[in-house]
Amino acid sequence: MSRAKKTIFKTSLETLYHSGLFRIMAPMAQGCGVIFTLHRVEPDPGHDFWPNKLLTITPEFLKTVIERCLSAGLDVVSLDEMAARLEAGETERRFAVFTLDDGYRDNLTHAYSVFKDHDCPFAIYLCSGLPDGDAELWWLALEEIIRRENVLSFALDGDEQAVSIGSTAEKTACFERIYWWLRAAPVERQYGFVRALCKCYGYDMTALCRGVSLSWDEVRRLSADPLVTIGAHTARHLPLAKLSEEAARDDIENGTARLSAELGVSPQHFAYPYGDPGSAAVREFALADSFGFRSAVTTRPDMLDEESRRKMHALPRVSLNGLYQEGRYVDVFLSGAPFALYNGLKRLRSA
Ligand SMILES: [Zn+2]
Repeated sequence: MSRAKKTIFKTSLETLYHSGLFRIMAPMAQGCGVIFTLHRVEPDPGHDFWPNKLLTITPEFLKTVIERCLSAGLDVVSLDEMAARLEAGETERRFAVFTLDDGYRDNLTHAYSVFKDHDCPFAIYLCSGLPDGDAELWWLALEEIIRRENVLSFALDGDEQAVSIGSTAEKTACFERIYWWLRAAPVERQYGFVRALCKCYGYDMTALCRGVSLSWDEVRRLSADPLVTIGAHTARHLPLAKLSEEAARDDIENGTARLSAELGVSPQHFAYPYGDPGSAAVREFALADSFGFRSAVTTRPDMLDEESRRKMHALPRVSLNGLYQEGRYVDVFLSGAPFALYNGLKRLRSA
């Protein structure tokens, strides 16, 4: 999300809250439930330059979200319970599902105790490359390199440049520019760029991955708790829609096979890497269905409703984003109002 979009979204949340409009819209927009997307949960490190902040919430905010859900009368349920309710059309009692993507160690060291204290189930969609230690977490590597350096030399589309990145503003602008160029680039160019940058600046992406990822022993420890569901999230965390069908199938299959081998059970639920329309669409929904997953989730923002049973492999989620860690925003999210407006505007634009 660009800086302008972030500002517009925050302003919309504030307007919906302070006008009370979210309460008026809730009966039409809240649906029967919500699946929250989280990534990392850890105390605020206090960085000035922190472009991936949106991927991290604090343990205190996680506690706030759980408590707001419970006090709003929602059941916090597992993915299996969610699927059972949707499949059976049991949509009278509203519910929330907490899902954490990728497989970061802080899910165990900081998030687990918060869920456990509230006796709340949650799921981790595990990219097997994280515990295997070979996932290329390029968005984190890019942040770390830009944090350390004062000048960055790189080539975008063959255009060599050396950019001053001494100040926080310069670092942020440089990150945004490269990040969005990489998100739009073909997969191999994306990985080639970051590998070359790591080599040039002596940065060890494998050490980064091992430092932040759950180990298989830690995954097994979590998996032994009935509160925890381990779902699949591919082996390499590639944007599947940008791959050939065979390559997309391989990445899903390899990730699923590693989880089955290490945990002794096949994952029943799946999350598309990135999950936006450019990374997961109709072909990928059919692929996930063909693997026999009971459900598969995107990152398209919306609430669940009785229609969700007809799109169990394209379920929407609502991001618990590190940029919006305010209790009042949780109340607005639970009303469904921001997503009804966002999707309504999108439908109008495409009409
Ligand atoms: Zn992911």
